Amino acid sequence: MDYQIALLSGDGIGPEITEASVSVLEKTGALFGHSFHFKPYLIGGNAIDACGEPLPQETVSGCLASDSVLLGAVGGPKWDDLPGDRRPEKALLGIRAALGLYTNLRPAKLFPALRGASPLRADLIANGFDILIVRELTGGIYFGDRGYRNGRYGEEAFDTESYSVTEIERIGRAAFEAAMQRNRRLVSVDKANVLETSRLWRKTMHMLAESYPEVQYRDLFVDNAAMQLVRDPRQFDVIVTSNMFGDILSDEASQLTGSIGMLASASLGDSKRGLYEPIHGSAPDIAGKNLANPVAAILSGAMMLRYSFGLNREADAIESAVNTVLEQGFRTADLVGVSCIEPVSCTEMTAQILNALSSAE
Ligand code: NAD
Repeated sequence: MDYQIALLSGDGIGPEITEASVSVLEKTGALFGHSFHFKPYLIGGNAIDACGEPLPQETVSGCLASDSVLLGAVGGPKWDDLPGDRRPEKALLGIRAALGLYTNLRPAKLFPALRGASPLRADLIANGFDILIVRELTGGIYFGDRGYRNGRYGEEAFDTESYSVTEIERIGRAAFEAAMQRNRRLVSVDKANVLETSRLWRKTMHMLAESYPEVQYRDLFVDNAAMQLVRDPRQFDVIVTSNMFGDILSDEASQLTGSIGMLASASLGDSKRGLYEPIHGSAPDIAGKNLANPVAAILSGAMMLRYSFGLNREADAIESAVNTVLEQGFRTADLVGVSCIEPVSCTEMTAQILNALSSAE
């Protein structure tokens, strides 16, 4: 089958890592009989340089006309002094809004070969772990009423959290569906012992759970969830939670895996079209030096196959090729740490992954 993919390489290491991801997707297509067609569009700093705005209308239209979107990263010191609404990062919120993306999927997977890079004790992660955090992306306290007022002790600031049943249902359904594609275990994280929004969240999740009897469901309070993540991350398969709790827990979980250069993400809405990107930024300190770890971008491509196109076997093949290369001992500089392994470049790491992909067939 043919798939049209909008390619937003962006700034800094963005072009290097998306090139790696494109080559892996093309190879996967060739092996499994699919054609992935990539059409490049400007976003971020390079768009500001070319046409004076971080998210040109042509980019939005191109993404809307595509089956899915692959993004590198945006931003860099060259554009740091621009006012907030004209900065490259503004394009990220703009494209998510334009595509109606309210679900953020962030896998935190520790490859067994990278155990040494995790801050957790070796016996806790002997067999690695594989968690998918499903974070609500467009509601909750980050989008509620806020301001300043005169309070009991003088000037005070306030933020408000509100969630509708509709918003909770749609993120909940996305999480149950994701759990169905994985190990069918879902934990919903809230603060229902204190917050009204969490009580509605929990009630709505329980109603949804009745439609997914195959999924083993449980609730956790957010403070307990934060503790359990470092106590025993292996207990989790899929976690679903609100915007702010997800923001905090996904950063905590990502740190448990070692390097930021390994972590992919997906943002999804009602249609199959999603936005897939590494969680890291444009890494200006290493841009253009062929030092970047391409794995986060490559795994973002695998997520696209899984969640937008339903190509699970193909996504598995990419993830397994990454695992093979790590088991063989190949490491980019960010994964070497204090060990005496000689690091490989971005292009060499990609070549090894392409090689492992072909050998698996
Ligand atoms: P960053 O993620 O770009 O870099 C943090 C550190 O991690 C740096 O030392 C970098 O070299 C390293 N790093 C990141 N990705 C790596 C990779 N794939 N391989 C090896 N090392 C990697 O975060 P930052 O330095 O805070 O931000 C740099 C720029 O990126 C800023 O302009 C920021 O606004 C932007 N940013 C963009 C996004 C995005 O596009 N989604 C996200 C975060 C930051």
